[in-house]
Amino acid sequence: APATPRAAPASAPFHGLDVNAVRRDFPILQERVNGRPLVWFDNAATTQKPKAVIDRLTRFYEHENSNIHRAAHELAARATDAYEGARDKVRLFLGAASSEEIVFVRGATEGINLIANTWGEANIGAGDEIIVSHLEHHANIVPWQMLAARKGAKIRVIPVDDTGQVILEEYTRLLTPRTKLVSVTQVSNALGTVVPVHQIVALAKAAGVTTVVDGAQSVSHLRVNVQAIGTDFFVFSGHKVFGPTGIGVVYGRKAVLDAIPPWQGGGNMIADVTFEKTLYQAPPNKFEAGTGNIADAVGLGAALDYVQKLGLEAIAAYEHDLLAYATQHLAPIKGVRIIGTAAEKASVLSFVLDGHTTEQVGRALNDEGIAVRSGHHCAQPILRRFGLEATVRPSLAFYNTCEEVDRFIAVVRRLAKA
Ligand code: PLP
Repeated sequence: APATPRAAPASAPFHGLDVNAVRRDFPILQERVNGRPLVWFDNAATTQKPKAVIDRLTRFYEHENSNIHRAAHELAARATDAYEGARDKVRLFLGAASSEEIVFVRGATEGINLIANTWGEANIGAGDEIIVSHLEHHANIVPWQMLAARKGAKIRVIPVDDTGQVILEEYTRLLTPRTKLVSVTQVSNALGTVVPVHQIVALAKAAGVTTVVDGAQSVSHLRVNVQAIGTDFFVFSGHKVFGPTGIGVVYGRKAVLDAIPPWQGGGNMIADVTFEKTLYQAPPNKFEAGTGNIADAVGLGAALDYVQKLGLEAIAAYEHDLLAYATQHLAPIKGVRIIGTAAEKASVLSFVLDGHTTEQVGRALNDEGIAVRSGHHCAQPILRRFGLEATVRPSLAFYNTCEEVDRFIAVVRRLAKA
């Protein structure tokens, strides 16, 4: 049964996390919307940025801005140190063995496209099968469909049960000698299900199958260790973990990155170019053609420092109780149907309300300054599995409070009575 939070809402340290102090770190949380204090419940779409990240970006542009690697002068050295320092923070954050396994990209979407266009191009052939789950975001469906169409391969889908959890027995049946890749999300953005990726990857590895884990929704809520998961690839987006937009990460096991071809060609990724032949750099540079998003990589490093300082364990415990509190109050409201009731969930409450469209609920919440997402959340297959085209999706972070949940619940209650 959902636990009732022990401490007074938003007033006292709670699981070692002083939410009032944390909220002061996020300038945007002082914003007023429609005359009311902003409630940011759209964290699954993007997270807000702490002052530490905003200040780090300013410091970069005021004191360090330069292109990297190419010029031998003081600012180039500062920018390179900051950028490579951020790569090492990502390595530590993910528990990777080496920073050579960390490739900077624009986000999770570009990361999955990179894997499809490098590893996929080299390893997928006619008749091969790629397994994804029914929970996937479109970013972990469409690049594989495009690859499959080019190669004559097939997509196979792990079904979910009525709680929105993947059915492992069905997965083991889908794993066959034709399977070349398993690519699954660690946390569903539409339902909040925490997927047992350790087990899924272990079963794939036992069958000699390459794996990708989509960490876009997990890294901000759970401690992740890519070596403990045992996955070949892991992707995430900086903006969903309190960092800037336009920066993300592909982790790739070194042996795998060494073996695959580059994707985009250009500067930075080469060791030597003649008109006859180009020699490539070793990873990660081989996969970072052109001038990257230097400042935002540095900003991402600051975001990871920030969450590490709070502690992923404290964050997970706080959010667990906050989600339980919200679920406990939302579920009994007449006409509410919560979609996604798996035993293990993170951050997301997806629901529909009888007699009201999801847009109407979203608008009523916005009128009260409460930001939620209503729509298909770029995950149409899983909503259709539950017979829906859209849900309302409040998604929580560690700076949210029980008082904010109360304001949200009051609006839904009022609509339910109307
Ligand atoms: N995967 C999941 C599970 C997501 O939730 C998202 C974004 O919502 C993505 C991938 C794509 O992330 P981005 O749009 O930052 O590339």
